[in-house]
Amino acid sequence: MKRDVLSMDLPELTAAVKEMGQPAYRAGQIFSWLHKSGAADFDEMTNLPKTLRETLHDNFVIFGCAIEKKLISEYDETVKYLFRLHDSEFIESVLMKYKYGWSVCVSSQVGCRMGCRFCASTMNGVVRNLAASEILSQVYAIQRDNGIRVSHIVMMGMGEPFDNFDNAMRFLELITDENGQNLSMRHISLSTCGVVPGIYKLAEKNLQLTLSVSLHAPDNALRSSMMPVNKKWPVEELIKACRDYTAATSRRISFEYALVSGVNDTPECAQKLAALLKGMLCHVNLIPVNEVDGTGMKKSAPENVKRFESYLAGKGFAVTVRRTLGSDINAACGQLRRTRINP
Ligand code: SAH
Repeated sequence: MKRDVLSMDLPELTAAVKEMGQPAYRAGQIFSWLHKSGAADFDEMTNLPKTLRETLHDNFVIFGCAIEKKLISEYDETVKYLFRLHDSEFIESVLMKYKYGWSVCVSSQVGCRMGCRFCASTMNGVVRNLAASEILSQVYAIQRDNGIRVSHIVMMGMGEPFDNFDNAMRFLELITDENGQNLSMRHISLSTCGVVPGIYKLAEKNLQLTLSVSLHAPDNALRSSMMPVNKKWPVEELIKACRDYTAATSRRISFEYALVSGVNDTPECAQKLAALLKGMLCHVNLIPVNEVDGTGMKKSAPENVKRFESYLAGKGFAVTVRRTLGSDINAACGQLRRTRINP
């Protein structure tokens, strides 16, 4: 069995390199090739002796993402990638251009098992977790393909990061490593559908990233009808975990709320939401739902979005309406799938 070298941190790589009878400094060189230069093959590591490169080939594998398909939005230059993994599974990632730089939305699983009714990623369940290397290589492949450096990352693609907690954490550790991309933790957002134990485990790590929580409804009856995860961790437990998270980390939580016409966009929902989040260190991000075939969910009308936003703003909340990028290529929130026939 060849080892997944791109998922190793520097101490693990150093131990492995020593086992091969090599000096420890080789590990630093290899790590830098992999994570700073984004090398996809050992043959690119030109300052290593050829015999060592052969040993690396024999012992290690670099899990990459092969570009199967690429779609460019005509509206906003957003690029959606369909990647093929080493076992021929497929995932999608999205490159977005902002005033402040390039941002990539990465997937954390092949599919998803959370079952949110409005989301395409979960329609065929989960196949497997992604290794840290496979989350990283989405970023590295996109950087290589465009000759750019990505400055921001959102873990908001396919999958539930807290359902793949350890690999998600290793990804964060590696992408922020000063010997690699050295990305700022403050430029990373991680989104969860509300896996409460994951929120507590993340709080213990006390990271500077932004935690986003997909709330989408202010009470249990409505939330459970939209998100099965709510039956396991109901609204009151979720909000308590969020309050505990902000107390432990002093970080503001971003609540995502997808507005579905006639379902959760009423004035009554806005009032309940304001009461639920009262006094919290938070930000509310409203997303007019992206319509996904088969879900029957329709976008809220612009005037209802405005009404919802104004109500929350009037109650003193920091509230924004998310700009939708890449909707013409099914690259917007909740539109990513693990198929080759999309859109
Ligand atoms: N599993 C994580 C991250 C992936 S989804 C989570 O649930 O948070 C990223 C965001 O897109 C979540 O807030 C999710 O609820 C939202 N989303 C899913 N489907 C959507 C849709 N059709 N329209 C708008 N947002 C959607």
